[in-house]
Amino acid sequence: MTVRNLFLLPGDGIGPEAMAEVRKIIAYMNAEMAGGFTTDEGLVGGSAYDTHGAAISDADMEKAMAADAVLFGAVGGPKWDDVPYEVRPEAGLLRLRKDMQLFANLRPAICYPALSDASSLKPELVEGLDILIVRELTGGVYFGEPKEIIDLGNGQKRGIDTQVYDTYEIERIAGVAFELARTRNNRVCSMEKRNVMKSGVLWNQVVTATHKAKYSDVALDHMLADAGGMQLVRAPKQFDVIVTDNLFGDMLSDVAAMLTGSLGMLPSASLSAPDATSGKRKALYEPVHGSAPDIAGKGIANPIAMIASFAMCLRYSFNLVKEADNLEKAIANVLDKGVRTGDIMADGARQVGTVEMGDAILAEFKALSA
Ligand code: NAD
Repeated sequence: MTVRNLFLLPGDGIGPEAMAEVRKIIAYMNAEMAGGFTTDEGLVGGSAYDTHGAAISDADMEKAMAADAVLFGAVGGPKWDDVPYEVRPEAGLLRLRKDMQLFANLRPAICYPALSDASSLKPELVEGLDILIVRELTGGVYFGEPKEIIDLGNGQKRGIDTQVYDTYEIERIAGVAFELARTRNNRVCSMEKRNVMKSGVLWNQVVTATHKAKYSDVALDHMLADAGGMQLVRAPKQFDVIVTDNLFGDMLSDVAAMLTGSLGMLPSASLSAPDATSGKRKALYEPVHGSAPDIAGKGIANPIAMIASFAMCLRYSFNLVKEADNLEKAIANVLDKGVRTGDIMADGARQVGTVEMGDAILAEFKALSA
């Protein structure tokens, strides 16, 4: 029987509250469905600092490396604002990303029909929106050397960041985008700035060559990243999968996120290259939101981003496509019924807390799975 190992890192603030709702879904799947999960749990962020004096302990890091998938809640909060820089809560997440070599960041932007009024765009532009931004996460201008501020000696200083990409980095992120497109609407749009950047020229050439060599069944377009940003807010439904570098991906994924309404709705996944022997990718799934200290402990956080992150985990780490579809449908159905947490509350809807929202989604998931 397949053993699926999950390592849970709830973290701080609303992280543990949201993770508790996922745990209920895992418990149901273990009890009722063929092939369940083994779970283990660790500490990350401020909670790890309080116990271990580090943002993640070596022992928990080892468990994360060995797991089939890591589910991460959120880290941080005012309690840890003054801890030393190397052990600040975010250092735990950065270490996970670095040690697990998570180079591919997947950020879906899905606009549930029931929430189309919450977008800053007209409802007809976003209703039914389902796009996936694939962002390169470990290279580009955030990491390239030299990276420094130098004194020019004439009263002026110079700040330098270096945008740098090698062929293999572009090939592997393009491969992820094409493969994911095949499981969706089979279209990829690659975004760069080849008109003004050499790294953009290479990006464009390598994506084109990768497409020709291995993925010619997928439709490929290229767009300059600035035009892409404009098109994202003009007619977002034209896109299926967007693949782009670290810097442009950082911005474009936030733009796409806001098309869908609330931070409490947005899941994400980060994947490594496949292991040479097992073929498995290391993977970390996390909501886009932070630890929300302003609402932590009040039982009002929206658990949907965390639950939708688990749905991505079912889909991408375990190929449990039907289960992932059902879980996403369960979220949509609950929203259709007018059940809302405070952050997505609308006129005429019924406001609930974290636990009630989790229960409603679980009940719907059970009904769909029956
Ligand atoms: P945040 O995402 O925690 O909160 C921003 C706003 O959105 C808050 O008003 C919050 O109440 C609301 N919000 C967020 N998630 C919500 C949810 N699920 N349901 C309802 N409302 C929700 O961002 P912030 O306030 O800038 O940061 C707070 C802390 O989180 C900081 O310590 C920051 O460093 C950390 N942070 C962590 C991560 C992470 O763990 N990946 C990401 C971003 C911020």
